[in-house]
Amino acid sequence: MTKTMGKIGLRTVAAVLAGRVLPRRLFQRCGPASSRAVALTFDDGPDPDQTPRILDALRDAGVVATFFVVGSKVERHPEVIRRIVEEGHVVGNHSFTHPRPGAIDAAGLIAEAEKTDDVLAAVVGRRASMFRPPYGGLSFKKLLGLWKVGRSLVFWNVDPKDFSCLTVDEVRSNLSRRPLRAGDVILMHDTVPFAAALIPEIAASVRRLGLTFTTPDAWGRHR
Ligand SMILES: [Zn+2]
Repeated sequence: MTKTMGKIGLRTVAAVLAGRVLPRRLFQRCGPASSRAVALTFDDGPDPDQTPRILDALRDAGVVATFFVVGSKVERHPEVIRRIVEEGHVVGNHSFTHPRPGAIDAAGLIAEAEKTDDVLAAVVGRRASMFRPPYGGLSFKKLLGLWKVGRSLVFWNVDPKDFSCLTVDEVRSNLSRRPLRAGDVILMHDTVPFAAALIPEIAASVRRLGLTFTTPDAWGRHR
């Protein structure tokens, strides 16, 4: 337990440091406060049931989002990815099979990123510049390898842990631990049935704060 905590602590500290000193096009944990915007991100899809529900809610709320997709699922549900892109959202790469960090080396992770990009290129005619490693797990070697092949790494700084919640109320309560602020990157999953119900509330609270929605790649073009 202590060992695991230590590891996570180190990773978090490294991520914070990297977020402070590296250009946003290489590494982002959150965006600039000056942007007056937050980024809503969904991992692990596309899911044939949840993703369309989320897309309906995003459309009704007038919110743009980023979907970090798993290539093997893109192959199975290409129509969902086409809809994501047609409706103006941004697609990021989240590997091909969502491997555990300890189960794959740097070359393997890069091969997974490239395989997902090939699928995306075939389905929507474009690759993803942004990459989010599964479980946020990243060694220095993997980081360098991904940079070498031109990836922009995107993490998050707000995590309501929706994957381990049993109800919408639980996700809502995790999300409300601190008020959202400009530059926040919110991590949710389009594989659990909570986000669609929460999108109207998130949109309302973001707008009440005088903020809007953006995508991490838009931040990445600024510095
Ligand atoms: Zn994931």
